[in-house]
Amino acid sequence: MRARGPAVILLITCVLGPHVTCQDHTEEEEHDKQPAGPGHHHWSYQDILEWDKDYPECGGKAQSPIDVDTQHTVFDAQLRPIQLSGYNLSTAETLELENNKHTVVLKLPGTMKIIGGLPEIYQAAQLHFHWGSKSNPGSEHMVNGRRFPGEIHVVHYNSEYTSVEKAANHSGGLAVLAAFIEKGPDYNEGYEPLLSHLEAVKDGGQITEIPGFDISRLLPQRLDRYFRYNGSLTTPPCLQTVNWTIFNQTIRLSETQLDLLEDTLHHDHDQLLQENFRDPQKLNGRNVLSSFKAPVLGRKAAGEGEVM
Ligand SMILES: [Zn+2]
Repeated sequence: MRARGPAVILLITCVLGPHVTCQDHTEEEEHDKQPAGPGHHHWSYQDILEWDKDYPECGGKAQSPIDVDTQHTVFDAQLRPIQLSGYNLSTAETLELENNKHTVVLKLPGTMKIIGGLPEIYQAAQLHFHWGSKSNPGSEHMVNGRRFPGEIHVVHYNSEYTSVEKAANHSGGLAVLAAFIEKGPDYNEGYEPLLSHLEAVKDGGQITEIPGFDISRLLPQRLDRYFRYNGSLTTPPCLQTVNWTIFNQTIRLSETQLDLLEDTLHHDHDQLLQENFRDPQKLNGRNVLSSFKAPVLGRKAAGEGEVM
């Protein structure tokens, strides 16, 4: 009789978390029970320092977010303006909006694409937000040590892969468009089709369907000025396969709108879902490119609604 060891089947399942959450389940014939603790596949912003126990890549050398030091960014004339396609969705289309207890996620159709400004074509998967609280700003990326009130991430995957889950495991598989959110004097009409539905998903785990709208209005108008670097998902499993674009122009929401983003959602136990951001990670020798020349220091301060 042929001796055989336990057959090990590695299954990778991914769900769309704040980014993409992929969990490895190693199933053995003995069906070893998974104890709580490491390997339990749950994570929170309260145990950030423990993430790499369950998800080793979170301790990697090319992690996100980062603090962009504009004195050390490298101008790259090859970086063309980001060009979007199919972002203006019909109201006849329905989109799923979910409070997944880490953030609010809007699922996006693959017909939305980035067709310029990246080496390949990327199609949209979802977008979500990071924010703070009344007393603490909550963007993930920072610029010259400055944190902004909030940040939007629009997650795309390389269209050579058949799914975001597959793409997430390959270098260059993902492209995230990021923009900072700050407080401005005016009501931002472009955000209303999203913010007006937050109340419907205020409890952790709630899902609702909302009509399509022009998603490009959630991003800044100027898509030609941005920072670019290679990094990771900012949540477990922290896969280091993300080509990041961080726009220089910020998004401005009225105080009421910003309050709504910060104070509406709850996770478990009736707790407000706030401060869902990870601190900046070490660059470890990575270059941060910019698509535009930095203003001469001292000659121009960052204008309103701009990072620099
Ligand atoms: Zn994110």
